[in-house]
Amino acid sequence: MTALRDIPSIDKLVRQLEPIDLPRPVVVAVVRRELAALRAELAAKSIPTNVDQTAQDVTARVRIALNQLRRSRIQPVINGTGVIIHTNFGRSPLGEGLIRTLAETAANYNNIEYDLSTGERGGRASYLEHNLALLCAAGAATVVNNCAAALVLILRHFASIPPKNQVLISRGELVQIGGGFRVPEILQASGAVLREVGTTNKTTIDDYREAIDERTALILKVHQSNFYMRGFVESPPSSDLARLARERGLPFVEDLGSGAVFPTESVCDRHEPTPGEVLGEGVDLVCFSGDKLFGGPQAGIIAGNANHVTALKKEPFFRALRCDKLILSALQATVDAHLSRDAGLDPFNGAQDSAGGEIPILAMMKAPVEALRARAERIVSSVAGLPVSASIGAGEAKIGGGSMPEAVIASSTVDLVPHNARLESFAARLRAAAPPVIGYISDDRFKIDLRTVFPRQDADLCTAIRHSLSVPTDRS
Ligand SMILES: *Cc1c(COP(=O)(O)O)cnc(C)c1O
Repeated sequence: MTALRDIPSIDKLVRQLEPIDLPRPVVVAVVRRELAALRAELAAKSIPTNVDQTAQDVTARVRIALNQLRRSRIQPVINGTGVIIHTNFGRSPLGEGLIRTLAETAANYNNIEYDLSTGERGGRASYLEHNLALLCAAGAATVVNNCAAALVLILRHFASIPPKNQVLISRGELVQIGGGFRVPEILQASGAVLREVGTTNKTTIDDYREAIDERTALILKVHQSNFYMRGFVESPPSSDLARLARERGLPFVEDLGSGAVFPTESVCDRHEPTPGEVLGEGVDLVCFSGDKLFGGPQAGIIAGNANHVTALKKEPFFRALRCDKLILSALQATVDAHLSRDAGLDPFNGAQDSAGGEIPILAMMKAPVEALRARAERIVSSVAGLPVSASIGAGEAKIGGGSMPEAVIASSTVDLVPHNARLESFAARLRAAAPPVIGYISDDRFKIDLRTVFPRQDADLCTAIRHSLSVPTDRS
């Protein structure tokens, strides 16, 4: 087996690959793994090889494996999909002003649990909780890791001790949201027992009333989020459910999912109920995500009745779900940005970039389509003379993140048909760019929707397109 002996040593290979932007132990591990795999293949096939060929194969193989690993590192990408709250891309990007605050909090000690007035231990993130309650027109508010955690905490608190552990929920709301979040499974994992009410399309207040007995612990309403039912559809308004819950002395909780605190009809002619509106209808507690329409970091916000919120914070489980200082600091800045907007200090200001300062997803939703079109024109003219047919398309941006599935926002796209590559391989080259660019293929074109591309990324986008067009031809 000369071939086995011809395989270069780990050390030699690692030295050949340097300099490389990965920690040395990582490179060594990959080299070791690839060499072992190659040895196994050679031993199995016992194919005759020549020394140079084997060395080349090994180096190429290792480079591919290292590239794959490097690409799995969390890094900025250019989102040309037009999906604003893209779960695969980290949902809401954070604004620049907020990042500065975050950097200061991160680099220094801070007063997260210290009362600067008394010089003693203070409530954790009490300013944030105070302002969050104000923003949601709630008695009190608190924060956990994400909305799933908020729901688990609420269910464990109200509905985990038999026999009073049944949760009433409409059959039309037993939904799956994204990967791994199924309402019935969350209930079960929290120790609650699901009591289904009504039918998929129709649930009445009487269905709820008839289902209540001594085992009932909670009435839960879950926002349908990522799908939309129309036709023969009915469900009671939250105000009716709140009245029923009050009559029977039951807590009533609404999982809002996306947590819009601005009038969504101003961007996409659909109204999302805000936490304040829902609490105003008599709901005891709402929960929602921090990184969907709220436009902040990943978090689960709970707002409503002050006694309930206090009790939830005393649950031993709360400690396991709490957020760290960076999240709380980012959320604090997001809440203040929303409150400042409410006070009439419109951060949109017409111009996209100043708006992008604090809540980028709002700025993206608000950007005038003419401004996107003007950028598309500049990008298209910058690729003139290259082997590509480039034009400006009309896009339909989506909210994403399981929010308002029917809503579309008119947008502008850069449409590309490369002369020297198939669309799929052109897409792959753009994904391999630095930073990676992700678009979509439609109507036999590769499209980049500019609503989700920050104007500051336009130059990088042009560079990536140019580089991807200069790779040798693969059109056969
Ligand atoms: C998105 C969503 C959740 C899950 O929120 P996370 O913050 O991702 O945990 C829960 N409920 C509803 C209705 C949602 O839309």
